[in-house]
Amino acid sequence: MAQGSWYDADIDHVIISEEQIREKIAELAKEVSADYASAPEGLLLVCVLKGAVMFVADFARALGRHGPPVELEFMALSSYGQAATSSGVVRIRKDLDREIAGRHVIVVEDIVDSGLTLSWLLRYLESREAASVEVVALFRKPDAIQVAVPVKYVGFDIPSEFVVGYGLDFAERYRELPYVGVLKPEVYARS
Ligand code: 5GP
Repeated sequence: MAQGSWYDADIDHVIISEEQIREKIAELAKEVSADYASAPEGLLLVCVLKGAVMFVADFARALGRHGPPVELEFMALSSYGQAATSSGVVRIRKDLDREIAGRHVIVVEDIVDSGLTLSWLLRYLESREAASVEVVALFRKPDAIQVAVPVKYVGFDIPSEFVVGYGLDFAERYRELPYVGVLKPEVYARS
């Protein structure tokens, strides 16, 4: 853990270290590069804002070392409240900037929990006639098993705890932590 950072005082324990994240992203990038070696037209990475921003930045650079050329697209989604979330109804707050018909798409996700947003997104991207759509998720929680979301590339299976860091927030904070950890209970009491 980094010494002396303000955020270390708020973290109860680290779940995945900065180094583990770096190594895992290199492995994932190798795997994806091998799978798309025969796709000279390259890959379109679709990042869902905001949680996957750190991951997509590091993953794209890791692909740059071995893999096919990549292009980046960003989407912002929000669900219609709790009841609608469970039906998987999603509103697009920022859509793709370009057509994706005929492209090989990889959705870059921070964490798959229920998988409901992701399953909606996969249907949406398929309706826009991508040549193929796969998912890379850096983290997966046990509940993800309940929904049949095909996540081809998974970084880490983690316990069902609320985690922050490496793009993941609590009330928009902690995204800049270089590792992923669990907040101390008093942090929630403070807010
Ligand atoms: P799902 O539709 O799979 O239930 O929701 C996944 C989204 O919920 C993730 O993209 C992420 O934004 C958020 N999420 C799920 N688990 C956590 C967590 O432990 N910490 C944070 N900060 N966000 C989470």
